[in-house]
Order: sequence, then C-alpha cells, then structure tokens
Amino acid sequence: MCGIVGYIGKRNSLPIIVDGLKRLEYRGYDSAGVAIINAASEIKLFKKAGKIKEIETQIPVDVFDGNVGIGHTRWATHGEPNDNNAHPHTDMHNKFYLVHNGIIENYKTLKKKLSSEGYIFHTDTDTEILVNLISYNYINHNKNFEVAVRLSLCEVDGTYGIACLCVEDPGKIIVARKGSPLMFGVGQDEIIVSSDASAIIAHTKNVIYLEDGEYAVLRRNGIKLKTIDDEDIHREVQQIEYDLEQIEKSGYDHFMLKEICEQPDIIQNTYRGRIKFETGEVKLGGLASIKDKIFNAKRVIITACGTAWHAGLVGEYMLETYCRIPTEVEYASEFRYRNPIIRQDDVVILISQSGETADTLAAMREAKKHGATTLGFVNVVGSTIAREVDAGTYIHAGPEIGVASTKAFTCQLMSLVLLTMMIAKEKGTISEDEFKKIGAEIELLPYKMKQLIDKKDYFKYIAEEFKDAKNFLYLGRGLNFPVALEGALKLKEISYIHAEGYPAAEMKHGPIALIDENMPVVFIATKDGTYDKVISNIEEVRARKGKIITIATEDDDNIADYSDYVLRVPKTHDMLQPIINSIPLQFLSYYIATARGCNVDQPRNLAKSVTVE
Ligand code: GLU
Repeated sequence: MCGIVGYIGKRNSLPIIVDGLKRLEYRGYDSAGVAIINAASEIKLFKKAGKIKEIETQIPVDVFDGNVGIGHTRWATHGEPNDNNAHPHTDMHNKFYLVHNGIIENYKTLKKKLSSEGYIFHTDTDTEILVNLISYNYINHNKNFEVAVRLSLCEVDGTYGIACLCVEDPGKIIVARKGSPLMFGVGQDEIIVSSDASAIIAHTKNVIYLEDGEYAVLRRNGIKLKTIDDEDIHREVQQIEYDLEQIEKSGYDHFMLKEICEQPDIIQNTYRGRIKFETGEVKLGGLASIKDKIFNAKRVIITACGTAWHAGLVGEYMLETYCRIPTEVEYASEFRYRNPIIRQDDVVILISQSGETADTLAAMREAKKHGATTLGFVNVVGSTIAREVDAGTYIHAGPEIGVASTKAFTCQLMSLVLLTMMIAKEKGTISEDEFKKIGAEIELLPYKMKQLIDKKDYFKYIAEEFKDAKNFLYLGRGLNFPVALEGALKLKEISYIHAEGYPAAEMKHGPIALIDENMPVVFIATKDGTYDKVISNIEEVRARKGKIITIATEDDDNIADYSDYVLRVPKTHDMLQPIINSIPLQFLSYYIATARGCNVDQPRNLAKSVTVE
C-alpha cells in the first residue's frame, strides 16, 4: 500500500525514482508523482492519477533533470484519487515538497490552526496540512528545515512515513517514520530512500531501517539520524537478504503465477534446518527465549487479517487437536477495539506477510500492554512486527509481489505445523510414531506440491469452463474449512467474481438456497475424518443441480461419481493437506482471472500490505 522513493546523489534522479516506483506498483496505488530539484535549484512537480506509466510517458524529462528528488505512489485515504490529491504535496509558499504514507489523524485541528494563520489549502488530503505545518514552523523557527520538520512531527497524531524537500535547502532530503516503514540504501556518494527494500535492491544491499519516532537528514555523502525528541542515534548498516532476480518475474506472465509455481522450493526454506525428518523433532531458534511461556500457555490467541487470518484458523485446528491448547482466532481489526480479555499467561500469535499490517501491529501492541507473550509469524525481515514481538519465526517465503497472497499463505501454514509439532513434542500430545510420519511427509511435501504444479494445464482447462460464473461457493470441513475460505477470497480478489467459503455442513443453514444449475460449488473433499460427511454434503448440492468441482485425493475411486470435475491431489498427513489443497485453488482463481482479462498482480482497490487502519 502506497510507496515512497527518493534519491540524492550524483546521478540523474528521475529514472531511478520512476524505476523504484515501478517496483512498488505491486503494493497497490491509485496515483503517482515526483518532485525533482533541477540544476537551477528549482523544484519541479509532476503528479497524476493512474499508473506510473502515465508519468513516464508524459513528463518533460529535460526539465526534470536533477540529482535530488522524491516520488510517491498514493493509495487514497483522504480525498479522491485524482491529479490534485496525488503526492508530492507542496505548501502555500511552494517551499516544501512532501510525500507521505499513512494518515495524519489530527489534520482537522491542525488545519484550523493554520487557517487562522492565513494558510490556504488546495487539496482534500491530510498530507497537505502537514506540509503547510512544516512551512509554518520553518517561518517561525529561523528558517531551519530540520527543526521545522521535527517540530511539525511532534504536533502530529497518526502514522507517517515521509520524505521532504526544501527549495531553500536543496542539498538534503529529510525522512521520518512513525507506523509506516521507511529505509534508505547507502551507496557510493548516493542514498536511495524507500518504503520497501525492493526499490533499493537494484542499487545497493546496504540499508538502514528507520524506527518509529525517528528522522534522518540525508545528504549525498552524509546521514544524520535522530529521534523526533532530538536525541542522536547510531544505527548499523544492514544487508538486504534477497537478490534482484527474486523480485523479477523470471519468464512467468505474472508474479502470482511465479509465486504459485515456486512453492515446492520455497516451502523448504520454511522448514530447512528446523526439523529432523526421521524423528519429527522441531527446533525454532527464534522462539527459544519464550519456550516456557509457550509450553505453559493456558490459551493461545491468533490474530491476523485476510489470508493470514485463514492461516490462523488452520493453526487453531492444529493447536487444539494436536497440542490440546485452547486457541482463539481473531480479526486483528476487531480484537484491538473491543477491549479484549488478555491475560499474562496468554500467548498471542501475530501473522502478517509484510509485518507492517496496521491492524495486526495495533493488536500486537494491545497484547503487549496487557503483559501477554507475543509471537510473530512474519515474512518481511526487519519489519515492524518482527522487531517488536517478544519472539518470532520468519516464514522465509521470500519477496511476495503478487497482491493476492499464495506462497506466503502456504509458508504460514508450514510455520504453524512446525510450531504445533514443537509444542506437541514437549507436551507429549502426539505419539512418537505419528511424529515420524509427519516428519516423513514433510520431507515428501515438495515433491507432492510439484506434482500439482505440473498439472496446471488441467486446472487452466477447468478455469476456462467456469470463467463466466457469477458466483462460487467453496465448502470444506475441519482443517479444510479455512482452505475453502481462502479459495473463495483468492477468487474474489483477482477475478471479481462473488465467492463465499463455508463449513460444508453449514451450507444447509442458508447458502443452500443459492444453489441451482448455475452455481459452481468447490468441495474440498480429501480423505480425512470428515470425508463421509462431506460426501453427504456433496449429495445435497447434487440434488439441487449445483455444478460440483471436488478437490480429492488420488486414491479416491468413488469421487468421480459425485462430481462434474475432480481436481486430484496427492494424499499427505492431515496437518499438511491444507498446504497441498490450496494449490489447485490458487491455480483456479489465477486462470479464471486471466481468462476474464483481469490484472491479477494489481487487482483493483487492493493493496499488498495494508498499512492504514
Ligand atoms: N493520507 C494520505 C492521502 O490520502 C496518504 C495516503 C497514502 O498512504 O498513500 O493522500
């Protein structure tokens, strides 16, 4: 969601900023813009609703030649996504240019104050208030750029990642963060600012991450880091852990397809070095410091949003079934606002691909406030949740660019399997024999996942058959109920077909009324303890002429009699079956969306990491 790129150095900044913004496109945005300090020390501004391509093709490049600049992709929170509201924003005197991710919550109060001082506003955004506040403080504090930014940030409630230019002090970019990620890459005589490492990696792997409440004054060959309370900070340079090619499409039509297909390899990163296959013994180094708290937890609360919430539901089944720990799963956005009962001996698990999801972050802080132990399952290394939790384990899915999460979901599931095994071993709630079986199945999992990737043409064929459907139902039971929810969400997200996931047995309490010959119903009917019941639910749909697509195991000889289409998957241990079963559902939504001509990597209205509440 929304992105910032800035450059200060010896090179021409415009192509670097535009290229960086393109790398952030996957996060979702509705408008974009740049401000460049040119050779004559003037600041040139160009911004537009729509895609970065518009900027690239329409900007008068010769006027925008300069070595210092900032750019932005906006995901509107205050004011329509039009040209005028796009960032960068400038103050009434056109002295400052600001890009901002996040929300200035007290913008109305600040607006009143500035209005009474004669300030006039031209946009509907909260950001314009902040840039005028900086201007106001500049005039009232000896025209000191740094002091003006710092004092303004002290007056602001809400969240921000910002980068700011000042026409009277053109050799600097000032950046700051609170609740919205910001980092900068440190190159040879140049600095590249961004809200996401993927815009930096083409230039350098050396990065400094800003923490909440900090700002930095960046010059071509100098960095000053401080807190907004004016304390000096020293921070070591860190290394970005992945390569440029990992964030490129590598010959696939879409990032989503690439990310679906790489799951057999990626899943191994989640468990490599953490499990002994022969015994099923698991070591999660990141959790060592809170092991006792986890083993003695009276209750686990898993909190997350969207796809990660579905992973949490699978986690609930696993932790209750195999570890016998009462577990609750909460939408982070609900949890934080409903004065939840959190006890000191609770373990609160936060699941977030980006590690920046605003609601999950707030839920984590709420849990910490009540003294619970917090545990993070995060993908992005160094992200805010990863840094603030008491302990955690990275899911190691690598950069996920497709907005609709695929590999991060299966890696989240794998991480929860490992956690379940670690706890079950300690508590003795799974037999040694069962442990060995799970260990052996984990070792086989990449091969089984690969078999499914090899069947993608068949999934494409089924997708073609259903591309014009208006609605879809996804049904499953037990561990496969969250898989059904995730299948439905994936379809909605990228194909814009209305889809619902339900526990299969709940269908008869309402959704069955929707079933007729035009309703495709996807049953997740792999063989487990609820298989026979699911078959009865399939019968109920058949009797009402619904179109039945089943996900069934290869050894199921009867299922074809009940189904219009069968998507065969390899059998594995029950705990791992959701990982396997998710793959045909990911393909189904991908191919339906592409058959309908949808932009699967950047679906409308969606953002990759939701950093606003
Ligand atoms: N609140 C700002 C706006 O609506 C920033 C949104 C963003 O994070 O892109 O313009």
